[in-house]
Amino acid sequence: MIGICILGATGSIGVSTLDVAKRHSDKYKVIALTANTNIDALFEQCLEHHPEYAVVVNEDQAVLFKQKIANSTVSDIKVLSGSKALETVSTLDNVDSVMAAIVGAAGLLPSLAAAKAGKTVLLANKEALVMSGDIFMKAVRDSGAKLLPIDSEHNAIFQCMPAGYIAGEDAKQARRILLTASGGPFRETPVEELHDVTVAQAVAHPKWDMGRKISVDSATMMNKGLELIEACLLFNMSPDAIQVVIHKQSIIHSMVDYVDGSVLAQMGNPDMRIPIAHAMAWPERFDSGVEPLNIFDVRQMDFEEPNLERFPCLRLAYEAINAGGIMPTVLNAANEVAVDEFLNERIKFTDIPVIIDQCMAEFSADSVDTLEIILKADKDAREQAYKIVEGIVH
Ligand code: NAD
Ligand code: MG
Repeated sequence: MIGICILGATGSIGVSTLDVAKRHSDKYKVIALTANTNIDALFEQCLEHHPEYAVVVNEDQAVLFKQKIANSTVSDIKVLSGSKALETVSTLDNVDSVMAAIVGAAGLLPSLAAAKAGKTVLLANKEALVMSGDIFMKAVRDSGAKLLPIDSEHNAIFQCMPAGYIAGEDAKQARRILLTASGGPFRETPVEELHDVTVAQAVAHPKWDMGRKISVDSATMMNKGLELIEACLLFNMSPDAIQVVIHKQSIIHSMVDYVDGSVLAQMGNPDMRIPIAHAMAWPERFDSGVEPLNIFDVRQMDFEEPNLERFPCLRLAYEAINAGGIMPTVLNAANEVAVDEFLNERIKFTDIPVIIDQCMAEFSADSVDTLEIILKADKDAREQAYKIVEGIVH
C-alpha cells in the first residue's frame, strides 16, 4: 500500500486526487488530508476516506473542526492546526507520496519538506517551484525524492520524454518544448475591453474547471508564464528552447521536439484526473475515471503564437526567468497579491500586469543560494506590491 498525504485536499486538484485514490483503494491509503478554512468539505472527506490525520491551517476553524470530529464516527482522526502541521504530515514515516496541491506560496514549506524527506512529490503547486527554483530541485536531487509533474502540460512533457527520464535531468535529444495554452477566456476579446472584465468573466475558463487563482492566471496568461519557468526547472531547459503555443481545443497538452525532427505530443480530454492518475500509477498506468477521447469530436486542432501585447504577464515571466536570481520569486509574489486584489474587486484586470511590472522594477536579480533569501524576497515583494496597489486604489 502507498500512503498518500494530500496537501490542499479540499481544492480542485485535491478533490480529483481523492477521486482517483478511491478508484485504487487497493493500492493507495489516505494518511493525511489538509485544508485552509473549508472545514465542511474536509469533514465530508474525513468521513469518506478516514485518514489518520487531518490538518486545518486556520486556528479558529480548527477549533470547530476538532469538535465536529470528536462527535463523529471518525473520532480517532488526529486533528492538527496551523501551518507547521502541514510539514508534520507531509513528512510522516508512513507517507510515501505527497500531492502538493495547495495554491500559492503557502505550499512551499510543506512541499519542500516532503522533497527533503525523500518522498514521491506529485507537484501541482507550481508557485512553490517557481519561487524556490534551484533550491527545490536540489532538495529533490540530494534526498533522492521522486518529482512527478501534475500540471497537465508538464505531465504531458514528462510523458513525451525518453523512457526512464527523471525530472531535472538534461533530456539530451530533446531540443525544444512546445508548451500549449488554451489562451483562456479572453483570447479574442478586443484588448480595449479587457479593462472592464469582471471577476465572474475572468474565472469562467472555457476548457478547465479550476480554483479561482489559477483561473485568473489563465485569463492573464500568467499561468503560462509560471509554467514556462516551471518547465525550465523540471526539464533543465533554457527559456529560448520553450515555445508557447495557443491551442484553443486543449486536446494536446504539450509536445517535445527531438533532434531527428520527431515531435511527440500527449493528448487527452481536458480533465486533471489524467495527469493525477498518471503520476499516481507511475511508472505503470491505471484507470483515471476519464472518458476515452473521441477523436472524431475533436475534428480540428488550431495552433497560434501568443500575442505578448494582449498578454503582458507572459512577457513579464520571460523577463523574470531571463533575469534569474530572485526575480521569479518577485514575479510570483507580486502576481499573488495582484490576483487577490482583483478577486476582491479592488483593482481592474488590466492593473495586474502593471503592478507586477512596477514591483519587479524595484528589485535586482540577486542570486539565490538559501531558502531565507527566497522567503525574504517573497515577503519584500508582497509589501512592495501592496504599496503599488494602494497607489492605484486611491
Ligand atoms: P483551489 O483554490 O481549488 O484549492 C486550493 C487548496 O489549497 C485548498 O484545499 C485550500 O484549502 C488550500 N489552501 C489555500 N490557501 C492555503 C493556505 N494559506 N495554507 C494552507 N492551505 C491553503 O486550487 P486548485 O485549482 O486546486 O490549485 C491548486 C494548485 O494546483 C495551484 O498551485 C494550481 O496552480 C495548481 N494547478 C491546478 C490545476 C487545476 O486544474 N485546478 C491545474 C494545474 C495546476
Ligand atoms: Mg497547466
